[in-house]
Amino acid sequence: MRGRPVRVSYQKTGQDGQARTGVISTPRGEIRTPAFMPVGTAGTVKAMMPESVRETGADILLGNTYHLMLRPGAERVARLGGLHGFMNWDRPILTDSGGFQVMSLAGLRKLTEEGVTFKSHIDGSKHELTPERSMEIQRLLGSDIVMCFDECPALPASDEAVAESMRLSMRWAARSKEAFGDRPGHALFGIQQGGVTRDLRAESAEKLVEIGFDGYAVGGLAVGEGQEAMFGVLDYAPGMLPEDKPRYLMGVGKPDDIVGAVKRGIDMMDCVLPSRSGRTGQAWTRRGQVNIKNARHMDDPRPLDEDCTCPACRNYSRAYLHHVFRSQEIISSMLLTWHNLHYYQQIMEGMRGAIAAGTFAAWEDEFHAGRAEGDIEPV
Ligand SMILES: [Zn+2]
Repeated sequence: MRGRPVRVSYQKTGQDGQARTGVISTPRGEIRTPAFMPVGTAGTVKAMMPESVRETGADILLGNTYHLMLRPGAERVARLGGLHGFMNWDRPILTDSGGFQVMSLAGLRKLTEEGVTFKSHIDGSKHELTPERSMEIQRLLGSDIVMCFDECPALPASDEAVAESMRLSMRWAARSKEAFGDRPGHALFGIQQGGVTRDLRAESAEKLVEIGFDGYAVGGLAVGEGQEAMFGVLDYAPGMLPEDKPRYLMGVGKPDDIVGAVKRGIDMMDCVLPSRSGRTGQAWTRRGQVNIKNARHMDDPRPLDEDCTCPACRNYSRAYLHHVFRSQEIISSMLLTWHNLHYYQQIMEGMRGAIAAGTFAAWEDEFHAGRAEGDIEPV
């Protein structure tokens, strides 16, 4: 048996246009890229057992520093053996830095050069996050891929405000690197900022490369700028980052966002969408979005997607899925989340195969054609 690697490394194995396929090797297992990371916010991918998440094809999960530091607390997770053992997931985990969620969830925030103080959205208690504390929390959790602590301004913002925020994030990136230290087997990713301004993106990339990271994220997108503006940035931003390191687009997205990002050179993504939609009766399929709440499914004996091999499609009818959603049965969230995560992983697998075969353009045409077709006709 091949020994497990001591360090985290990335190997590109194929390229078609700007789209890349590769492998990130970690002591906890390999991550096939392009990779989609389901979000396990509070130590669980909601409505899913970890072994089921693995069955959908996920190689890595994302955990949220902000949520875990507030409840149950990073020190407690560390005392209990770290996040992997605590949540029963022994494969790689990436944790965000907490910065983005402080900005979107916490109350009474105060931002200084040092960091940010805020009040918990759970109980109003006061907390502080700095680059140093964020690195410490992510170490206590046992995260395999650690993200730099950064600030993400809400768009639209003036160029001046975006520049000032980006430069603060770059100073915090240097402090994150210093505080992270040398931890074999764990990786630290830098985060490019700069909004939708090319010069600022370039300045940010240059600064990050100078500091030196194991991987690079394109940050500050998917914050309400729209797909066109996001793709506009992705037309140049990934190319500013090192070719031989993984590139991660944070918080994206819908299936067509993901395909468009991979086409532009992104290797990793995460989003709550497939799991969150599963709990609100929304299914993502090859033929677009299906709202299982609709009365048209009430008498429909057919599966959600007859070609899908997930348990929801293999063993249950649309009529049943409609019924359990309307009855607010827990299995509704379980089955639709499973289907959505399975579908997302099928997209990733399809793209990895197409990139390796040099047929990404044809795969993409088929992907869009399926969606354009729309859902099957009602019974
Ligand atoms: Zn399915």
